[in-house]
Amino acid sequence: MGSPIYSVVVPAYNEQEVIKETYTRLTKVMTGMGEPYELIFVNDGSKDQTAHIIAELCENDPCIRLINFTRNFGHMPAISAGMEHARGQAIFIIDADLQDPPEIFPEMVAKWKEGYHVVYGKRIKRKGETIFKRVTAKVFYRFLRIMTSVDLPPDTGEFRLIDRKVCDAVNKLPEKNRYIRGLVSWVGFKQVPVEYHREKRFVGETKYPLRKMISFAMDAITSFSYKPLKFATLIGIVISILSFLYILYVLYQVFFTDRTITGWASTIAAILFTQGIVLMILGLMGEYIGRIYTELQNRPNYIVQEIITKDDNLE
Ligand code: UDP
Ligand code: MG
Repeated sequence: MGSPIYSVVVPAYNEQEVIKETYTRLTKVMTGMGEPYELIFVNDGSKDQTAHIIAELCENDPCIRLINFTRNFGHMPAISAGMEHARGQAIFIIDADLQDPPEIFPEMVAKWKEGYHVVYGKRIKRKGETIFKRVTAKVFYRFLRIMTSVDLPPDTGEFRLIDRKVCDAVNKLPEKNRYIRGLVSWVGFKQVPVEYHREKRFVGETKYPLRKMISFAMDAITSFSYKPLKFATLIGIVISILSFLYILYVLYQVFFTDRTITGWASTIAAILFTQGIVLMILGLMGEYIGRIYTELQNRPNYIVQEIITKDDNLE
């Protein structure tokens, strides 16, 4: 097999129920396009049969490569690994759970051939997801847009086609906390959306509960802007001015009126309020310091245990 034109990067974590179906649908679409391709499954430390099933598929299909991590490193590291191992001229990124339809690959390729470097999937409707998930996702994207200086298109996930050049550019970025869709936006190039309907998860459940969504949002914001720190300064300034004015008012009362100064309750309220803000800002600074710390440690994003393939050009 020669060098592939297309690479498909598929991060998978505990996807045993769906992974075979994913393989079948991907293979159908890829063979339909009639060019050499490779499927790169990144098994992100699954605790179920995912790795085993993919390894079996590898036996009979030289187009597959399985990258096994030593443990669960996360969705973003899995995609990074796939991108680093991809050899194609156009690289697709798609989740293993079939929420994003591989059937629109040809449409993406058409745009790519028109000269676009990034063709990202834009969700028009989120079928079968709970209202809660839909609303949080919406709020998340709007908030992100306000907080970050990079122009991140709303309602997009990782589902996209990227050109070789974009892949190389992103791979070269040294940062450890990788928010892929942000990095892809950040590197620039010609980007265009393709609209699609996001399906319900085929089987299994989301691996992004609220807790992870929040840490994801924090990651996204702190990797792309320090606007939160500016807000912190702003809040500090506003509160200082207000307190100063209030002090003037209190002094005025003391010296020019005979009203007694009362109000333990308001004193306590004011103290608690400002303390709360101070702590919040400390925490915020902590977020950034934590990121500096991770960068300094300079540990790899993931560790590969083994790569399994029947592709003769590799190994
Ligand atoms: N995933 C991963 N590592 C993780 C969590 C998720 O590789 O630690 C993969 C998962 O197998 C799926 C994709 O990332 O292919 C997206 O995860 P999920 O579908 O749970 O997220 P959602 O679609 O609900 O945002
Ligand atoms: Mg999903």
